[in-house]
Amino acid sequence: MKMAVILGERRAGLIEVPDPQPKDNWVLIKVHASALCTEYKAFLVGRQLNLSGHEGAGEVIAVAQPGKVKVGDRVVILPQFPCGKCALCLAGDFIYCENNSDFEEFVGSKIGIGTFAHYALKPDWLLPPIPEGVSYEHATMAIDGIGASFGAFQAIHINASDTLLITGLGPVGLGAVVNARFRGCRIIGVEPISWRRDRALQMGIDFVFDPGEPDLLRKIMTLTGGKGVSCALDCSGKVQSQRLCIDATQRKGRVAFIGETEDELAIRVSPDMIRKGITLIGSWLYNMSDYYNVMQVIQQSPLIDMLISHCMPMSQIQGAFELLASGESAKVVVHPWE
Ligand SMILES: [Zn+2]
Ligand SMILES: [Zn+2]
Repeated sequence: MKMAVILGERRAGLIEVPDPQPKDNWVLIKVHASALCTEYKAFLVGRQLNLSGHEGAGEVIAVAQPGKVKVGDRVVILPQFPCGKCALCLAGDFIYCENNSDFEEFVGSKIGIGTFAHYALKPDWLLPPIPEGVSYEHATMAIDGIGASFGAFQAIHINASDTLLITGLGPVGLGAVVNARFRGCRIIGVEPISWRRDRALQMGIDFVFDPGEPDLLRKIMTLTGGKGVSCALDCSGKVQSQRLCIDATQRKGRVAFIGETEDELAIRVSPDMIRKGITLIGSWLYNMSDYYNVMQVIQQSPLIDMLISHCMPMSQIQGAFELLASGESAKVVVHPWE
């Protein structure tokens, strides 16, 4: 089969490898669509990746034993290789599993680990069905496109009475706009790249600012009658934006961080948290029990086709990564068989 790999700094391409084989309850999926995500960061620096592609959708084509899926099933390929047995997995919080399987040890190679490939391997319980009428491209949005912000919104109970600040309107932040519009709340966005600000406006965001704009905090306060937003979501992973989320949120408000970073954010416990009574959480994907609720957004939101800005053949993986790295895209989906 063909799989996409990072070949060096800002270089990606396809290589030919042996087809992976199903084993125990790990089944073989023919990948029909896969969305690009954080892999572009590895592309920029030429770092090798364990997980080259983690947002796939496809069709089960071979199983080693009877199980939870059968040949011909259309499925979403959920990320990671959680154990399925620990308390977190059993509670549906598989994404936080502490005992992820060692793919290479179980399979004997890393072939089949990622979804930028003709085929992928996955334990059968991580392959929920794609509802009838949902395309493979749309189905890939059930991972980070729609799923990442959906999980955070569930955790901080976002609803139509909220005014929401979203910092970072990249693919995940634009997915948050889709979820927020679906829930009917008022949305203020902050994003440095004009393409993404324009896309957010096309999607119906109420206000959008460049983070470099002077007096940004004061402007957000003015828009909210001096109180601040009721909730905020950081998708940027930038410390300055995380700080803005805290400062712009009103007393008893809720803040969620989903933008990944290793950088340190300074928190002043009394003024930032105790005296404001805010709830501050981190969130990674969503609980398995919300899968069909995520799918409902994908099926019913008229904005999904705006969230997927580009579909490309996997043979153009180099161009796909360059496009995502340019900032002038929302979600980019590749078709492995083209
Ligand atoms: Zn992702
Ligand atoms: Zn587990």
